[in-house]
Amino acid sequence: ATTLGADWALDWMERARAVVSANRIELIELDRAIGDGDHGENMDRGFTAVAAKLAGVTPSAPGEVLKTVATTLMSTVGGAAGPLYGTAFLRGSKAADGALDAGGVAAVLEAALEGIQARGKAEAGEKTMVDAWLPAAQAARSAAEEGSGPVEALRAAADAAAAGAEATEPMVARKGRASYLGDRSAGHRDPGAQSSALLLAAAAEAAEA
Ligand code: ADP
Ligand code: MG
Ligand code: MG
Repeated sequence: ATTLGADWALDWMERARAVVSANRIELIELDRAIGDGDHGENMDRGFTAVAAKLAGVTPSAPGEVLKTVATTLMSTVGGAAGPLYGTAFLRGSKAADGALDAGGVAAVLEAALEGIQARGKAEAGEKTMVDAWLPAAQAARSAAEEGSGPVEALRAAADAAAAGAEATEPMVARKGRASYLGDRSAGHRDPGAQSSALLLAAAAEAAEA
């Protein structure tokens, strides 16, 4: 595809629901190691609600889909991740009022990252979802600047997010509940970075479909 429209966004969210559901236990276990163990449940509840909200809608732009995702996640996910993801999708929605080329993909991911950082004040290396979204946004921007299309830009973003999530394993948490553990948070992957990588993988798969 030369651009990604509302159909892509709907497919992304259907794949997001499926991948979050399939990884519910893994996310619970990651959060049990350094948090309170609810991240898988929170995300599964949220994306199940998103899928229900999107069933039967006929949006004309990806931003319409992402706005519904934002409001639904804000009211259903709870915890730290609910407002963070809600803000990410809300900011992202505003950058997606038409079909997305590679620059548009980068703009959406940059807007989502800005939302997460505006809300949570985390910087790179503090063992949060920022460590997935920051390299993802950078990879999409680089791909766009090199002349790639939106599908390639999203694939680069998803791969960077996966590497970013893995890279949280040795980090010491400085934000959120995991920071209460101090040095004992090292040696475990951050659950929010992992769920972010899953969501971006779903976005890339929807683009490639
Ligand atoms: P809670 O910690 O309230 O139980 P969740 O378990 O649903 O919420 O989500 C935890 C995830 O939220 C963490 O793994 C981390 O990625 C993310 N997170 C927490 N605080 C912040 C923050 N200030 N900035 C960015 N992400 C954060
Ligand atoms: Mg938790
Ligand atoms: Mg909690």
